Amino acid sequence: MQEKIVIAGGGLVGAMAAGFLAQRGFRVEVYERREDLRAHAISAGRSINLALANRGIYALEKLGLMERVSQLLIPMRGRMVHDVDGSCNLQPYGQRPEEVIYSVSRGALNGLLLDAAEASGNVDIFFEQELLDIDFDDKRARFRDHAADSEKHVPFDRFIGADGAGSRARTQLLNEVHREQPDSECREQIEPLDHQYKELEIPAGADGGFLLEREALHIWPRGGFMLIALPNLDGSFTVTLFLPAKANGSQPGFDALQTEAQVENFFRQYFPDAAALMPTLLEDFFRNPCGHLGTVRCTPWCYRDSAVLIGDAAHGIVPFHGQGMNCGFEDCVALDDCIGQTPGNWREIFRHYSGARIPNANAIADMALENYVEMRNSVRDPKFLLKKSIGFE
Ligand code: FAD
Repeated sequence: MQEKIVIAGGGLVGAMAAGFLAQRGFRVEVYERREDLRAHAISAGRSINLALANRGIYALEKLGLMERVSQLLIPMRGRMVHDVDGSCNLQPYGQRPEEVIYSVSRGALNGLLLDAAEASGNVDIFFEQELLDIDFDDKRARFRDHAADSEKHVPFDRFIGADGAGSRARTQLLNEVHREQPDSECREQIEPLDHQYKELEIPAGADGGFLLEREALHIWPRGGFMLIALPNLDGSFTVTLFLPAKANGSQPGFDALQTEAQVENFFRQYFPDAAALMPTLLEDFFRNPCGHLGTVRCTPWCYRDSAVLIGDAAHGIVPFHGQGMNCGFEDCVALDDCIGQTPGNWREIFRHYSGARIPNANAIADMALENYVEMRNSVRDPKFLLKKSIGFE
């Protein structure tokens, strides 16, 4: 009988994992808490657009999707650094034309991955289904069906937790490991960052064109904080302000931006050129939520031959290397490779996968934290100009 793999979470990584597993002929069911983003005008969550780099591209190529994805991409050839006086300079990501990263809409990419998974014929996706808990002995997961206002128990042969940084699958898995082997190394470490983010917008110009250089990742580094902007296909830029949650002395913070006058003064002082391109700045600022950031590390990532974690559920990292999704896509490739190496031996598959990925995920998490300091500060220093990049750098 065909093995059934249940995935909790139909975000970027869960959708990609479903595609890889379908390619290998498994029967896959994806349970996603939210509505179907392809049918409803809901945001895909987190950032509106993101940077796709080599790790992610490799995974999309392996899945045979890169040609379709390339329709969604805008190359970013370097970082355009904006000074307070309005001057800017482009720091190329590399010397060769192919050394670029790409801006992509999160919603469009997620939708494409869901479409591709469904088109395989081996994947069913259920929306408005929230994972509540997992019975590892009976191999059944309990979901809340928000549409029907009921609960259901879903049997599985293997379970994959792809439910993001606040993963319930992770909590369940770690509790189970601890219950079974209280002396084993079983840890979850969550380090919140004391900086938050808010998304804003530079719309397209009156003629539909881009108001800033199109093929660049724009950065306004200001020491303790920064603004960045990534281009969208419709001519707009999604702008993200990264700022401490609390002001400290002369250092601004979100808590000191409570009134329209405070926000206006802040942007006029630190980002006057960007503010001039944001006609709905105040409206956007007070409407859009402040997002929280942090690093999540845990071990182990798997339980027996039953369950495994991928993507942000296994490793939440701060976004300053632009590598969270890319790293999650790399998880999918690694898991697929392990399935190919010891087919059917799931305990070995999960063990190999976790062993290979945990050190890499921890390393990228550290690099992402370090890169925040560089991005908001030292990108202004010419000695960084030709540093080789693997992401936002
Ligand atoms: P998510 O995208 O969080 O998806 C998890 C899914 O699980 C969601 O659809 C959620 O609704 C669902 N879910 C949650 N709980 C349950 C439940 N109990 N039951 C069922 N479903 C559930 N990465 C990059 O590579 N490049 C970038 O440029 C980049 N920029 C970023 C900018 C910002 C501001 C932020 C915050 C992150 C950025 N990232 C970037 C990181 C990237 O967003 C994440 O790494 C990526 O979204 C992880 O995908 P995922 O599928 O693992 O998790």
